[in-house]
Amino acid sequence: MYQANETRYEKMEYRRCGNSGLRLPMISLGLWHNFGDVDRYENSKAMIRKAFDLGITHFDLANNYGPPAGSAETNFGRILKEDFTTYRKEMIISTKAGYYMWPGPYGDWGSKKYLISSLDESLMRMGLDYVDIFYHHRPDPNTPLEETMNALDQIVRQGKALYVGISNYKPEEARKAIHILKALGTPCVIHQPSYSMMNRWVEDGLLDVLNEEKVGGIAFSPLAGGRLTDRYLSGIPSDSRAARVDSPFLGTSDITQTLLEKLHALNEIAQARGQKLSQMALAWVLRQETITSVLIGASRVSQIEECVGALDHLNFTDEELKRIDSIIE
Ligand code: NDP
Repeated sequence: MYQANETRYEKMEYRRCGNSGLRLPMISLGLWHNFGDVDRYENSKAMIRKAFDLGITHFDLANNYGPPAGSAETNFGRILKEDFTTYRKEMIISTKAGYYMWPGPYGDWGSKKYLISSLDESLMRMGLDYVDIFYHHRPDPNTPLEETMNALDQIVRQGKALYVGISNYKPEEARKAIHILKALGTPCVIHQPSYSMMNRWVEDGLLDVLNEEKVGGIAFSPLAGGRLTDRYLSGIPSDSRAARVDSPFLGTSDITQTLLEKLHALNEIAQARGQKLSQMALAWVLRQETITSVLIGASRVSQIEECVGALDHLNFTDEELKRIDSIIE
Protein backbone atom coordinates (compact mmCIF):
# COMPACT_ATOMS: atom_id res chain seq x y z
CA MET A 1 0.00 0.00 0.00
CA TYR A 2 1.33 3.42 -0.94
CA GLN A 3 1.67 5.83 1.95
CA ALA A 4 2.48 9.41 0.93
CA ASN A 5 5.60 10.97 2.39
CA GLU A 6 4.62 12.94 5.48
CA THR A 7 7.09 15.72 4.67
CA ARG A 8 5.60 16.32 1.20
CA TYR A 9 4.38 19.85 1.91
CA GLU A 10 7.58 21.09 3.52
CA LYS A 11 9.63 22.01 0.46
CA MET A 12 7.21 22.66 -2.36
CA GLU A 13 5.89 26.19 -2.72
CA TYR A 14 2.37 26.98 -3.89
CA ARG A 15 1.43 30.05 -5.89
CA ARG A 16 -2.04 31.50 -6.13
CA CYS A 17 -3.58 31.05 -9.55
CA GLY A 18 -4.57 34.57 -10.62
CA ASN A 19 -7.00 35.98 -8.08
CA SER A 20 -8.74 32.66 -7.47
CA GLY A 21 -8.72 30.59 -4.31
CA LEU A 22 -6.71 27.89 -6.05
CA ARG A 23 -3.03 27.49 -5.25
CA LEU A 24 -0.86 25.32 -7.46
CA PRO A 25 2.57 23.84 -6.83
CA MET A 26 5.28 25.82 -8.60
CA ILE A 27 6.09 22.58 -10.40
CA SER A 28 3.30 20.46 -11.86
CA LEU A 29 3.48 17.15 -13.72
CA GLY A 30 1.99 16.56 -17.16
CA LEU A 31 1.09 13.14 -18.57
CA TRP A 32 1.37 13.86 -22.29
CA HIS A 33 4.26 11.44 -22.75
CA ASN A 34 5.33 8.33 -20.78
CA PHE A 35 1.90 7.41 -19.37
CA GLY A 36 0.35 5.67 -22.39
CA ASP A 37 -0.24 1.99 -23.02
CA VAL A 38 3.05 1.93 -24.94
CA ASP A 39 4.89 2.87 -21.73
CA ARG A 40 5.82 0.81 -18.69
CA TYR A 41 2.97 1.05 -16.19
CA GLU A 42 5.15 0.52 -13.12
CA ASN A 43 7.39 3.42 -14.18
CA SER A 44 4.39 5.70 -14.73
CA LYS A 45 3.06 4.77 -11.30
CA ALA A 46 6.44 5.36 -9.63
CA MET A 47 6.57 8.86 -11.17
CA ILE A 48 3.12 9.81 -9.86
CA ARG A 49 4.06 8.54 -6.39
CA LYS A 50 7.38 10.42 -6.39
CA ALA A 51 5.77 13.62 -7.64
CA PHE A 52 3.13 13.53 -4.90
CA ASP A 53 5.77 12.73 -2.29
CA LEU A 54 7.60 15.90 -3.38
CA GLY A 55 4.53 18.10 -2.96
CA ILE A 56 3.45 18.09 -6.61
CA THR A 57 -0.29 18.13 -6.14
CA HIS A 58 -1.19 18.99 -9.72
CA PHE A 59 -1.40 16.43 -12.54
CA ASP A 60 -2.30 17.56 -16.04
CA LEU A 61 -3.94 15.34 -18.65
CA ALA A 62 -5.94 15.65 -21.87
CA ASN A 63 -8.41 13.37 -23.61
CA ASN A 64 -5.87 12.54 -26.34
CA TYR A 65 -2.76 11.75 -24.24
CA GLY A 66 -1.30 8.29 -24.74
CA PRO A 67 -0.61 6.73 -27.17
CA PRO A 68 -3.13 5.43 -27.90
CA ALA A 69 -5.30 8.48 -27.25
CA GLY A 70 -7.15 8.12 -23.95
CA SER A 71 -4.71 5.61 -22.46
CA ALA A 72 -2.92 8.16 -20.25
CA GLU A 73 -6.25 8.89 -18.56
CA THR A 74 -7.03 5.19 -18.22
CA ASN A 75 -3.62 4.44 -16.71
CA PHE A 76 -3.82 7.45 -14.41
CA GLY A 77 -7.27 6.28 -13.30
CA ARG A 78 -5.80 2.90 -12.42
CA ILE A 79 -2.99 4.54 -10.43
CA LEU A 80 -5.54 6.71 -8.60
CA LYS A 81 -7.63 3.68 -7.72
CA GLU A 82 -4.67 1.61 -6.57
CA ASP A 83 -2.82 4.29 -4.59
CA PHE A 84 -4.59 7.61 -4.25
CA THR A 85 -8.23 7.15 -3.23
CA THR A 86 -7.58 8.66 0.19
CA TYR A 87 -5.53 11.51 -1.34
CA ARG A 88 -8.02 12.65 -4.02
CA LYS A 89 -8.90 15.73 -1.97
CA GLU A 90 -5.23 16.76 -2.00
CA MET A 91 -4.90 16.52 -5.79
CA ILE A 92 -5.62 18.95 -8.60
CA ILE A 93 -6.37 16.90 -11.70
CA SER A 94 -6.92 18.61 -15.04
CA THR A 95 -7.98 17.41 -18.44
CA LYS A 96 -8.79 19.04 -21.78
CA ALA A 97 -10.61 18.67 -25.07
CA GLY A 98 -9.94 20.55 -28.28
CA TYR A 99 -7.78 18.36 -30.49
CA TYR A 100 -8.90 15.41 -32.63
CA MET A 101 -10.26 12.59 -30.50
CA TRP A 102 -12.78 10.55 -32.49
CA PRO A 103 -14.12 10.48 -36.07
CA GLY A 104 -17.16 12.39 -37.28
CA PRO A 105 -18.17 16.00 -36.73
CA TYR A 106 -18.26 15.89 -32.90
CA GLY A 107 -14.79 14.68 -31.96
CA ASP A 108 -12.58 17.74 -32.51
CA TRP A 109 -12.29 21.52 -31.97
CA GLY A 110 -14.70 23.49 -29.76
CA SER A 111 -18.40 22.69 -30.10
CA LYS A 112 -20.46 22.25 -26.97
CA LYS A 113 -21.32 18.73 -28.18
CA TYR A 114 -17.63 17.76 -28.32
CA LEU A 115 -16.56 19.31 -25.02
CA ILE A 116 -19.38 17.84 -22.95
CA SER A 117 -19.12 14.37 -24.52
CA SER A 118 -15.35 14.33 -24.21
CA LEU A 119 -15.29 15.29 -20.54
CA ASP A 120 -17.86 12.56 -19.79
CA GLU A 121 -15.50 10.04 -21.40
CA SER A 122 -12.44 11.44 -19.58
CA LEU A 123 -14.23 11.10 -16.24
CA MET A 124 -15.11 7.52 -17.05
CA ARG A 125 -11.53 6.65 -18.06
CA MET A 126 -10.12 8.17 -14.88
CA GLY A 127 -12.88 6.81 -12.65
CA LEU A 128 -13.60 10.29 -11.30
CA ASP A 129 -16.80 12.18 -10.48
CA TYR A 130 -15.17 15.51 -11.31
CA VAL A 131 -11.90 17.04 -12.50
CA ASP A 132 -10.45 20.06 -10.79
CA ILE A 133 -9.70 21.97 -13.98
CA PHE A 134 -11.20 21.47 -17.43
CA TYR A 135 -9.62 23.27 -20.38
CA HIS A 136 -10.55 24.09 -23.90
CA HIS A 137 -7.31 22.82 -25.47
CA ARG A 138 -7.02 25.18 -28.46
CA PRO A 139 -9.09 27.95 -30.01
CA ASP A 140 -11.60 26.95 -32.69
CA PRO A 141 -11.91 29.50 -35.51
CA ASN A 142 -15.25 28.08 -36.68
CA THR A 143 -17.26 27.79 -33.47
CA PRO A 144 -18.55 30.95 -31.78
CA LEU A 145 -16.43 31.58 -28.71
CA GLU A 146 -19.68 32.11 -26.81
CA GLU A 147 -20.69 28.48 -27.46
CA THR A 148 -17.36 27.06 -26.29
CA MET A 149 -17.35 29.21 -23.16
CA ASN A 150 -20.97 28.32 -22.51
CA ALA A 151 -19.94 24.65 -22.53
CA LEU A 152 -17.24 25.40 -19.92
CA ASP A 153 -19.78 27.27 -17.79
CA GLN A 154 -22.23 24.36 -18.02
CA ILE A 155 -19.52 21.88 -17.04
CA VAL A 156 -18.82 23.81 -13.83
CA ARG A 157 -22.52 24.20 -13.04
CA GLN A 158 -23.00 20.46 -13.48
CA GLY A 159 -20.18 19.82 -11.03
CA LYS A 160 -18.04 17.98 -13.57
CA ALA A 161 -15.18 20.48 -13.10
CA LEU A 162 -14.42 22.86 -10.26
CA TYR A 163 -12.53 25.38 -12.39
CA VAL A 164 -12.10 26.01 -16.10
CA GLY A 165 -9.33 27.33 -18.27
CA ILE A 166 -8.13 27.83 -21.83
CA SER A 167 -4.99 26.71 -23.59
CA ASN A 168 -3.07 27.97 -26.62
CA TYR A 169 -5.31 31.06 -26.94
CA LYS A 170 -3.56 34.17 -28.30
CA PRO A 171 -3.71 37.41 -26.26
CA GLU A 172 -6.84 39.01 -27.70
CA GLU A 173 -8.86 35.78 -28.07
CA ALA A 174 -7.86 34.92 -24.50
CA ARG A 175 -9.14 38.28 -23.27
CA LYS A 176 -12.42 37.77 -25.12
CA ALA A 177 -12.86 34.27 -23.66
CA ILE A 178 -12.07 35.56 -20.16
CA HIS A 179 -14.71 38.29 -20.50
CA ILE A 180 -17.38 35.91 -21.81
CA LEU A 181 -16.78 33.51 -18.93
CA LYS A 182 -16.88 36.35 -16.43
CA ALA A 183 -20.25 37.49 -17.80
CA LEU A 184 -21.55 33.91 -17.48
CA GLY A 185 -20.49 33.87 -13.82
CA THR A 186 -17.80 31.21 -14.19
CA PRO A 187 -14.33 32.77 -14.01
CA CYS A 188 -11.53 31.65 -16.28
CA VAL A 189 -9.02 30.64 -13.64
CA ILE A 190 -6.06 29.62 -15.77
CA HIS A 191 -4.44 29.81 -19.20
CA GLN A 192 -2.03 27.08 -20.34
CA PRO A 193 0.44 28.36 -22.97
CA SER A 194 3.81 27.01 -24.05
CA TYR A 195 6.71 29.01 -22.58
CA SER A 196 10.41 28.40 -22.20
CA MET A 197 13.73 30.16 -22.75
CA MET A 198 13.51 28.95 -26.34
CA ASN A 199 9.86 29.88 -26.92
CA ARG A 200 8.90 33.31 -25.63
CA TRP A 201 5.73 34.19 -27.54
CA VAL A 202 3.77 34.79 -24.32
CA GLU A 203 5.97 37.81 -23.58
CA ASP A 204 4.40 39.51 -26.60
CA GLY A 205 1.07 40.40 -25.00
CA LEU A 206 -0.32 37.25 -23.36
CA LEU A 207 1.35 37.72 -19.97
CA ASP A 208 0.04 41.31 -19.92
CA VAL A 209 -3.51 40.09 -20.59
CA LEU A 210 -3.28 37.47 -17.83
CA ASN A 211 -1.86 40.03 -15.45
CA GLU A 212 -4.54 42.61 -16.22
CA GLU A 213 -7.35 40.07 -16.01
CA LYS A 214 -5.85 38.39 -12.91
CA VAL A 215 -5.83 34.95 -14.52
CA GLY A 216 -3.09 32.46 -13.66
CA GLY A 217 -0.69 31.00 -16.23
CA ILE A 218 0.75 27.50 -16.28
CA ALA A 219 3.63 27.12 -18.72
CA PHE A 220 3.78 23.88 -20.69
CA SER A 221 7.01 22.44 -22.15
CA PRO A 222 9.22 24.69 -19.99
CA LEU A 223 12.18 22.39 -20.80
CA ALA A 224 11.47 22.57 -24.55
CA GLY A 225 10.61 18.88 -24.53
CA GLY A 226 13.88 17.99 -22.81
CA ARG A 227 16.26 20.14 -24.86
CA LEU A 228 16.83 22.54 -21.94
CA THR A 229 18.33 19.77 -19.80
CA ASP A 230 21.52 17.77 -19.97
CA ARG A 231 19.67 15.06 -21.97
CA TYR A 232 21.30 15.91 -25.30
CA LEU A 233 24.59 17.50 -24.19
CA SER A 234 26.63 14.46 -25.15
CA GLY A 235 24.60 12.81 -27.90
CA ILE A 236 21.04 11.60 -28.42
CA PRO A 237 20.16 8.80 -25.98
CA SER A 238 18.12 6.03 -27.60
CA ASP A 239 15.40 6.29 -24.95
CA SER A 240 15.04 10.10 -25.27
CA ARG A 241 12.03 11.87 -26.69
CA ALA A 242 14.00 13.01 -29.74
CA ALA A 243 14.84 9.39 -30.57
CA ARG A 244 11.38 7.94 -29.94
CA VAL A 245 9.32 7.29 -33.06
CA ASP A 246 6.04 7.94 -31.22
CA SER A 247 6.91 11.56 -30.41
CA PRO A 248 6.34 13.53 -33.61
CA PHE A 249 7.00 16.97 -32.07
CA LEU A 250 10.69 16.41 -31.31
CA GLY A 251 13.02 14.50 -33.59
CA THR A 252 16.73 13.85 -33.95
CA SER A 253 16.89 16.56 -36.64
CA ASP A 254 15.93 19.14 -33.98
CA ILE A 255 19.16 18.45 -32.07
CA THR A 256 21.38 20.53 -34.33
CA GLN A 257 24.99 21.57 -33.82
CA THR A 258 23.87 25.20 -33.41
CA LEU A 259 21.43 24.18 -30.69
CA LEU A 260 24.07 22.13 -28.91
CA GLU A 261 26.46 25.07 -28.83
CA LYS A 262 23.75 27.18 -27.20
CA LEU A 263 22.88 24.44 -24.73
CA HIS A 264 26.51 24.07 -23.67
CA ALA A 265 26.79 27.85 -23.18
CA LEU A 266 23.57 27.85 -21.11
CA ASN A 267 24.84 24.88 -19.16
CA GLU A 268 27.91 26.88 -18.16
CA ILE A 269 25.72 29.61 -16.69
CA ALA A 270 23.68 26.98 -14.85
CA GLN A 271 26.83 25.40 -13.43
CA ALA A 272 28.10 28.77 -12.27
CA ARG A 273 24.77 29.18 -10.45
CA GLY A 274 25.27 25.77 -8.85
CA GLN A 275 22.33 24.34 -10.79
CA LYS A 276 21.53 21.83 -13.48
CA LEU A 277 20.45 23.27 -16.84
CA SER A 278 16.92 21.90 -16.30
CA GLN A 279 16.70 23.69 -12.95
CA MET A 280 17.85 26.99 -14.42
CA ALA A 281 15.36 26.65 -17.29
CA LEU A 282 12.48 26.16 -14.83
CA ALA A 283 13.63 28.99 -12.56
CA TRP A 284 13.82 31.23 -15.62
CA VAL A 285 10.13 30.64 -16.44
CA LEU A 286 9.10 30.99 -12.80
CA ARG A 287 10.76 34.42 -12.58
CA GLN A 288 7.53 35.70 -14.16
CA GLU A 289 5.09 36.25 -11.33
CA THR A 290 2.12 35.77 -13.67
CA ILE A 291 3.27 32.18 -14.16
CA THR A 292 1.67 30.17 -11.37
CA SER A 293 3.38 26.89 -12.20
CA VAL A 294 5.69 25.20 -14.70
CA LEU A 295 4.21 22.07 -16.22
CA ILE A 296 6.97 19.57 -16.77
CA GLY A 297 7.01 16.13 -18.34
CA ALA A 298 9.25 13.29 -17.20
CA SER A 299 10.27 9.81 -18.28
CA ARG A 300 11.77 8.72 -14.95
CA VAL A 301 11.60 9.43 -11.24
CA SER A 302 15.06 11.02 -11.07
CA GLN A 303 14.03 13.75 -13.54
CA ILE A 304 11.18 14.82 -11.27
CA GLU A 305 13.53 14.98 -8.29
CA GLU A 306 15.98 17.08 -10.28
CA CYS A 307 13.29 19.47 -11.50
CA VAL A 308 11.96 20.09 -7.99
CA GLY A 309 15.52 21.06 -7.06
CA ALA A 310 14.97 24.19 -9.19
CA LEU A 311 13.17 25.72 -6.21
CA ASP A 312 16.48 25.94 -4.33
CA HIS A 313 17.65 28.80 -6.53
CA LEU A 314 15.03 30.89 -8.29
CA ASN A 315 16.62 34.35 -8.46
CA PHE A 316 18.62 35.71 -11.38
CA THR A 317 21.02 38.61 -11.58
CA ASP A 318 20.52 41.08 -14.45
CA GLU A 319 23.86 39.92 -15.78
CA GLU A 320 22.73 36.28 -15.90
CA LEU A 321 19.51 37.21 -17.68
CA LYS A 322 21.44 39.26 -20.25
CA ARG A 323 23.86 36.42 -20.90
CA ILE A 324 20.98 33.97 -21.36
CA ASP A 325 19.32 36.35 -23.84
CA SER A 326 22.52 36.81 -25.80
CA ILE A 327 22.92 33.04 -26.14
CA ILE A 328 19.34 32.32 -27.18
CA GLU A 329 18.87 35.19 -29.64
P1 NDP B 1 9.07 19.49 -20.85
O1 NDP B 1 9.52 20.62 -21.67
O2 NDP B 1 9.21 19.55 -19.39
O3 NDP B 1 9.79 18.16 -21.41
C1 NDP B 1 9.71 16.96 -20.71
C2 NDP B 1 10.85 16.04 -21.12
O4 NDP B 1 12.09 16.61 -20.73
C3 NDP B 1 10.79 14.68 -20.44
O5 NDP B 1 9.96 13.79 -21.12
C4 NDP B 1 12.24 14.27 -20.47
O6 NDP B 1 12.60 13.81 -21.75
C5 NDP B 1 12.96 15.59 -20.28
N1 NDP B 1 13.29 15.89 -18.90
C6 NDP B 1 12.48 16.32 -17.89
N2 NDP B 1 13.19 16.54 -16.77
C7 NDP B 1 14.47 16.24 -17.06
C8 NDP B 1 15.65 16.27 -16.31
N3 NDP B 1 15.64 16.67 -15.04
N4 NDP B 1 16.79 15.89 -16.92
C9 NDP B 1 16.82 15.50 -18.21
N5 NDP B 1 15.71 15.45 -18.98
C10 NDP B 1 14.54 15.83 -18.41
O7 NDP B 1 7.53 19.29 -21.05
P2 NDP B 1 6.58 18.45 -22.06
O8 NDP B 1 6.81 18.85 -23.45
O9 NDP B 1 6.65 17.01 -21.69
O10 NDP B 1 5.17 19.01 -21.61
C11 NDP B 1 4.82 18.95 -20.24
C12 NDP B 1 3.33 18.88 -20.10
O11 NDP B 1 2.73 20.05 -20.62
C13 NDP B 1 2.65 17.74 -20.86
O12 NDP B 1 2.77 16.50 -20.18
C14 NDP B 1 1.26 18.24 -20.91
O13 NDP B 1 0.62 18.02 -19.67
C15 NDP B 1 1.43 19.73 -21.13
N6 NDP B 1 1.37 20.10 -22.55
C16 NDP B 1 0.27 20.82 -22.95
C17 NDP B 1 0.10 21.17 -24.27
C18 NDP B 1 -1.08 21.98 -24.66
O14 NDP B 1 -1.34 22.13 -25.86
N7 NDP B 1 -1.83 22.49 -23.71
C19 NDP B 1 1.09 20.78 -25.32
C20 NDP B 1 2.24 20.08 -24.77
C21 NDP B 1 2.35 19.77 -23.44
P3 NDP B 1 12.88 12.27 -22.10
O15 NDP B 1 11.53 11.71 -22.35
O16 NDP B 1 13.74 12.36 -23.31
O17 NDP B 1 13.58 11.68 -20.91
